[in-house]
Amino acid sequence: MAGIYLHIPFCKQRCIYCDFYFVTGQRLHPTFVQALCTEIEYYGQLYGRLEPIETIYFGGGTPSRLSLEEVARVLNELYRYFDLSALQEVTFEVNPEDASRDYLSGLHSLGINRLSIGVQSFYEADLRFMNRAHTAEQAEAAIENARRAGFENFNVDLIFGLPDQPLEYWMANLQKVADRDIPHVSTYSLTIEPRTVLYKQVERGLVQPADEETYRACYDFAMEYLEARGYEHYEISNFARPGYQSRHNHTYWRHGNYLGFGPSAHSFWWGQLPEPGAYRWANVRNLRRYEALLAQHHLPLEFREGLSYDQLAEEYLYLRLRTAEGLDLDHYAERYGVDLLSERLDELAELEAEGLIEPIRNGKLRLSRKGRHVCDAIVARLL
Ligand code: SF4
Repeated sequence: MAGIYLHIPFCKQRCIYCDFYFVTGQRLHPTFVQALCTEIEYYGQLYGRLEPIETIYFGGGTPSRLSLEEVARVLNELYRYFDLSALQEVTFEVNPEDASRDYLSGLHSLGINRLSIGVQSFYEADLRFMNRAHTAEQAEAAIENARRAGFENFNVDLIFGLPDQPLEYWMANLQKVADRDIPHVSTYSLTIEPRTVLYKQVERGLVQPADEETYRACYDFAMEYLEARGYEHYEISNFARPGYQSRHNHTYWRHGNYLGFGPSAHSFWWGQLPEPGAYRWANVRNLRRYEALLAQHHLPLEFREGLSYDQLAEEYLYLRLRTAEGLDLDHYAERYGVDLLSERLDELAELEAEGLIEPIRNGKLRLSRKGRHVCDAIVARLL
């Protein structure tokens, strides 16, 4: 079973922390939708019958900048070229400023069965700082509208560690999630990426980033608070009510195949067809170039590379340790040729003594709560 990701690169305005690929100020996008459909057709002819598609994810950018007609056209194209007979989950990212009840009802009637709402915070001061395009009131209304439109499965994104954000705001954000019985929440720490407005503000000394201790306190609080209220902490950044974990993300974390369409989208395919081996590729991060390449019957590729077993093993370790399920050591040895129990026994013992991993049970390697703070460092020690 494979997944499909669609990158819709339009945003109303620029959030100060964002380093995703997007453009602002465009309301009509017929040339983009045409290019996207051309790309779907091309890959559909090569990959469309190799594996049934289990999940589709509209991400961005802001997919909710598309009209319902444009969404319908893209979905029709996917139905035309891919095997969607086993489709389980179709997620659509919406920003609160677009989340009217009519729009969400329209998405629901098109077969979208999961929303991811870009709330980030329920507090006006946080939203203004981040230059989000919505208000706190719109964030609350989006959740109401999602339910009224028939969505029982939806996520909200929240960001913690904003400069000068009182810890109480973060606690209150999580309380709103639990009080409203929101089935899934993704929590992200505010990171300062190069080429963002925030990066320049920090460089000029206009903004003082939160310190390590604040990040740690926010994350610890989220784990304790949400788990005590029945949420499963099933991946480092993700919490869900039982039965509401994201299937699409599980495809990434189990090294499943996925195709990404749209500018800057990434793909991964490992199999015998259309050619043997594992490959990763990414599209160009430029809308005009993406459209022009497809119009000239070229693939809009930025790069494409074959992956060695060493690269696959490293990536898989990183992906599995992020999950609460953890790494199945037998499977790792069989499929990736790395037997951690015999090759890295000393390091495993040290990590356990430091409280960074759980004692190994049923052949599974899992991070402890403490270890979730430093997943990357643990992977580096094991490799
Ligand atoms: S809406 Fe999302 S993709 Fe667009 S600028 Fe803000 S964070 Fe980035």
